[in-house]
Amino acid sequence: MRGSVIKNINLYKSGEQKIEWVKRNMPVLRSIEERFIKEQPLKNKKIAIAIHLEAKTAYLAKVLKAGGAEVSISSSNPLSTQDDVAAALVKSGMSVYSIHGISEKEYFEHLNMVLDIKPDIIIDDGGDLIQLVHTSRRKLLENIIGGSEETTTGIVRLKSMEKEGVLEFPMISVNDAYSKYLFDNRYGTGQSVWDGIMRTTNLIVAGKNVVVAGYGWCGRGVALKARGLGANVIVTEIDPIKAMEAVMDGFRVMKSVEAAKIGDYFITLTGNFKIFTSEHFKYMKDGAILANAGHFDVEIWKPDLEEMSVEIKEMRKNITGYVMPDGRVINLLAEGRLVNLASGDGHPAEIMDMSFALQALSAEYLAQKAKDLDKKLYNVPMEIDFEVSKMKLMEWGVEIDELTDEQKKYLDSWQ
Ligand code: NAD
Ligand code: SAH
Repeated sequence: MRGSVIKNINLYKSGEQKIEWVKRNMPVLRSIEERFIKEQPLKNKKIAIAIHLEAKTAYLAKVLKAGGAEVSISSSNPLSTQDDVAAALVKSGMSVYSIHGISEKEYFEHLNMVLDIKPDIIIDDGGDLIQLVHTSRRKLLENIIGGSEETTTGIVRLKSMEKEGVLEFPMISVNDAYSKYLFDNRYGTGQSVWDGIMRTTNLIVAGKNVVVAGYGWCGRGVALKARGLGANVIVTEIDPIKAMEAVMDGFRVMKSVEAAKIGDYFITLTGNFKIFTSEHFKYMKDGAILANAGHFDVEIWKPDLEEMSVEIKEMRKNITGYVMPDGRVINLLAEGRLVNLASGDGHPAEIMDMSFALQALSAEYLAQKAKDLDKKLYNVPMEIDFEVSKMKLMEWGVEIDELTDEQKKYLDSWQ
């Protein structure tokens, strides 16, 4: 085992409890672990992971190790590491490079340490590891057989690499599997974003105006749960079809500048940048609460907030108050980083059970098939996608019908 860089090994006890708790609630991944222990599909494979280092990710790392892999791991965000979980992983014999609250520079140092394992497979969340091995760490390309990507923004980056012809190995788009984005992005983000906001602010949502920027899979989930909490939901979009869907789902849709005047909560989920800027901050109410759940901390444009403020102060843990010259305070949660992970535990275990089952099975698929794949972005094979949803239904005790031969024939005939 190689050395690790973590906060404090003595924190391991509560980390172990957290991992044990999620394991009890991740039955699909548990059954994959049982099979991996027997079959050792990842024997002799080295895997570098950068995903939010909390308990569910820790359990994924343990499952890959149980399958025979040597694993090194870091977080995909400087604020989402849980130091007790990192300690528990080191205690279990894993190489971990991750500390909560580090600077951007240290964050990249840790990613580089993860890569020092000279991986065969990369499991990335957002594309930072992939970017490093295609730029400053190109020597590692000799060894890499493939990788997989967890989130929408990472896929956007991979698509532009593929288009420019610079992608150097096959990548699997875990994000685009049906049993990922329909559940993780929608219901996972829907619940965990509100969990993060509510535990950070301890304020009521019912009766408030909630502005959701971006009505993609994540935005839908957040808007749906906001309605369930009794909020008046307003959606902002740039895509006419998504905007129409939001209208038909029963939400108000308007320009972001108009929404800025009436919103109490503003939540960004676009994967884009400069969604709320000085153009909006100048109209916002005193006490407005801003949270981002999209990939980077650029959706709520902090340079404008800083420039406009006469004072910047901590209002409460994880809430920064920007005091405007007229006395209004605009509150930013978790420094504008993903609120559900920087200010909470991220998606629930039952959701990550599916996303990480897809990751584990994609790693197995790469170990077996990478040599037959091109330097392209691939979807998760449909058999794996179906297998994960079937296993989940089985765990829930839900049974569904099967096509009869007669029905198959009917569906296959064009006459
Ligand atoms: P998506 O592509 O389905 O949705 C993004 C939406 O934002 C699109 O409908 C797009 O039209 C809209 N948009 C783009 N620019 C806009 C603008 N200027 N104003 C308003 N709307 C705009 O993507 P998604 O799967 O919903 O993911 C959104 C972001 O959230 C990504 O960055 C993704 O990586 C991240 N993500 C976060 C979590 C989490 O746990 N917080 C989970 C999954 C994905
Ligand atoms: N590098 C990015 C990461 C994007 S986060 C950043 O700047 O933070 C979006 C991804 O986080 C989602 O696709 C989701 O699958 C994942 N996620 C959500 N909750 C999680 C959890 N509890 N543990 C690990 N990953 C989680």
